[in-house]
Amino acid sequence: MTKLTYRFQEGKKEWKDLLGGKGANLCEMTNLDLPVPNGFIISTDACKNYLAQEEKTLSKGLIAEINFQVKELETLTNKSFGIGLNPLLVSVRSGAKYSMPGMMDTILNLGLNDETVYALAEITQNKDFAFQCYCRFIQMFADVVYNIPAENFGAIPTGTKEKSDWENIISNYQKIFARATGRKFPQDAFEQLQIAVEAVFSSWNNQRAKVYRRIHNISDNLGTAVTIQQMVFGNYSENSGTGVMFTRNPATGEKGVYGEYLLKAQGEDIVAGIKTPEPICTLQEKMPDVYAELIEIAMQLEKHYCDMQDVEFTIEAGKLYMLQTRNGKRTPQAAVAIAYDLMKEGVISEETLINRLDEEMIAQLMHPSFTNDAKKKAAIVRGLPASPGAAVGQVAFTAKAAKEMSDKGSQVILVRNETSPEDIEGMSVSEAIVTARGGMTSHAAVVARGMGVCCVVGCEDLQVDEEKGVANFTNGILKTGDFISVDGSSGRIYLGQLALNEAETSAVLEKVLKICDAHATMAVYGNAETPREIKEALLKGAKGIGLARTEHMFFQKERLKMMRELILADDRSRMDEALVYIKEKQKSDFRQMYQILGKLPCTIRLLDPPLHEFLPQDRSELRAIAKELNLNGQEVIAKVKSLAEVNPMLGLRGVRLGITCPEIYQMQVAAIMEAALEISAQEKITITPHIMIPLVGTVKEFRIVKDSCQEVINGLFEKTGTNLPFEIGTMIEIPRACLIADQLAAVADFFSFGTNDLTQLTYGYSRDDAHKFLPTYTHQEILPSDPFQHLDQEGVGKLMRFASENGKQEKESLSVGVCGEVGGDPASIAFIQTLPVDYVSCSPFRIPNARLACAKAAIANKKQLIKL
Ligand code: PEP
Ligand code: MG
Repeated sequence: MTKLTYRFQEGKKEWKDLLGGKGANLCEMTNLDLPVPNGFIISTDACKNYLAQEEKTLSKGLIAEINFQVKELETLTNKSFGIGLNPLLVSVRSGAKYSMPGMMDTILNLGLNDETVYALAEITQNKDFAFQCYCRFIQMFADVVYNIPAENFGAIPTGTKEKSDWENIISNYQKIFARATGRKFPQDAFEQLQIAVEAVFSSWNNQRAKVYRRIHNISDNLGTAVTIQQMVFGNYSENSGTGVMFTRNPATGEKGVYGEYLLKAQGEDIVAGIKTPEPICTLQEKMPDVYAELIEIAMQLEKHYCDMQDVEFTIEAGKLYMLQTRNGKRTPQAAVAIAYDLMKEGVISEETLINRLDEEMIAQLMHPSFTNDAKKKAAIVRGLPASPGAAVGQVAFTAKAAKEMSDKGSQVILVRNETSPEDIEGMSVSEAIVTARGGMTSHAAVVARGMGVCCVVGCEDLQVDEEKGVANFTNGILKTGDFISVDGSSGRIYLGQLALNEAETSAVLEKVLKICDAHATMAVYGNAETPREIKEALLKGAKGIGLARTEHMFFQKERLKMMRELILADDRSRMDEALVYIKEKQKSDFRQMYQILGKLPCTIRLLDPPLHEFLPQDRSELRAIAKELNLNGQEVIAKVKSLAEVNPMLGLRGVRLGITCPEIYQMQVAAIMEAALEISAQEKITITPHIMIPLVGTVKEFRIVKDSCQEVINGLFEKTGTNLPFEIGTMIEIPRACLIADQLAAVADFFSFGTNDLTQLTYGYSRDDAHKFLPTYTHQEILPSDPFQHLDQEGVGKLMRFASENGKQEKESLSVGVCGEVGGDPASIAFIQTLPVDYVSCSPFRIPNARLACAKAAIANKKQLIKL
């Protein structure tokens, strides 16, 4: 038969599954010879057996085991349970694997009855004390087992004048109990214990506990253990008391104990807030020996557990007892500081330090967030959390309105159906961007992440009428100028102005991330193109730029005009004029890039999007453009119509544009190389430009474009009499490119996986429309998660493995990176680590997280290799 109960001496800290967190740690403390009141634990297996039965009763076997353990406890303590002159009183507490404040509370003083209360009074020579304990027991038993509010009994009397008063009070308590429960208050201590144990087991399925588990992702199948422990009394005398203490400050991580205590009180008094506790440092004056012992034990526990501890203790008549220890909860700031200090003190290794931190923690430290209280408010709509952070501001429905409101000094939140390149100025002045449509790789999402602006996309329940300046949601309407609060980390939008926690700048975090870099085997680069973003990427620790999307350089008003001129030009000379203008602008951009980056690697991608993205579709806007460019309105409309594509994502994009309109790529390559030559000469360094061709699917198309670039570069070298190393590589974002990776590697200098397109094309899901069905797919578990956010290892990952392995096999020197959005996602990074990939590249604001994730992935992979 399986053993279902364990004495404290029998367990250990690793047995949390079986004994619950609290129980396992009591065992550990007992075995460290710390002063722990004796006791035993009923296992989670017993709970699971109990809950699995139709008729909820304790099995005969379990009752026999419990009774046996009580006898053992009687022997150990030299007391007797429920009878006799020296009664054994116990506490009964629930304790699951994970701490669950939503579950049942504690019952204290179990074992008291109408007889043992007198024995306790006699032994302690304190009748008031004994009867108060009895009152408290009846009250807690009624509350915890039968849900009878403690207030029904009134406050426990502090003492009585008449000797006989206590009997009346108890009799009154028992009457209240009987009236509310329909049964007499049990006098048999074994019966009391059985009822209490059943109540703890049943509490596993109470509503509060279920909700808590759902919120915290805790399995419903774990069950709870029950800890039964000999009582010690913090309310026994003037030199008794109880308290809680952290071994370091849980808010800041600062070294030094932090906690509070109450004299002549039990733990519940602190929790209930009936009396105001004192700071722990004052115990040093009042009870120096106890204080010294407490500190010594706390430090021993911290060392033993290699982590900050949260301990509970009781002092009974000047003697210290430890009642609980666990790894203390802490703020993200404290978590980083504590782990770093413990590593410095030699308590934990660098690997453990890295594994202790999580990406959520770092994200919370890097971005503002709403306070916990603020987040209790109901959200009006929810979308996809496209770019983290939190922002409060007034709604604007057009980029123009956003700019105007911002110029007047307002904090603005741009709310659109979806954004387009034309919105860029309005986006850049906004505190947050919200769109009704679009997924995690939509224009709004990609641009906002690049800018580090908080963003929520795909809010399906929001109907935006941009012209009227209103948006409807299920329960109301938003108008221009209304205040909203946007949580880019959860995707929730709230009405009004929620309270914010500012982001922290932490020097310790910087040190920790440096340690991460030393353990990582993949580098982290940034996806950035503007000077602001590039500086941000470097500040966040990027080792270079893995993807500069040149199309993002055309969005300023004047440049957009010239780009339109280029596309719509009806004769060669106008086209050349536009090309010259754009080239000069691009060159100046690249000069700035190289100036900031120096010799750091920088991969510049040639123009990718379809040309019609630079043009509006609206006829009146097209007429205005025609007027501005001095062109015929009808002809412009006809041209735009001819450029329009049924499926632009699969149309004239990327390398196809380079083939059909070679002048644009040639202009870009000339601008890149001229800028590199100039800055190399100016700074006396050798810049090695990395030119990247997007959406390649055949060797021939890559070759044609590469040769054309090469020709431009050769011409430039000849003309200037100078030289510079350079590389021409390809994005791998088409499944076919993966399948012919060996052939591509023979002609390309490097690969960079564009997982946004690779995912789109592998699944056949439009990256801009997938948000409409992905929630259903993940809800029905057809997909484990959104593959645009978390790499699909089985399919897309398989293609990546095939391509990277074959590519490197063909050309050992081939550098391979990942620059799609999953390059900043920790779960995806863990997988990418198993491929022959040299770096990941992501939005600047994801870089610290990616650095941590790369270090974790390297450590995990090393362990895996050692095991093999
Ligand atoms: C990609 O497809 O993963 C990529 C990085 O390119 P873009 O998102 O610009 O299409
Ligand atoms: Mg792409």
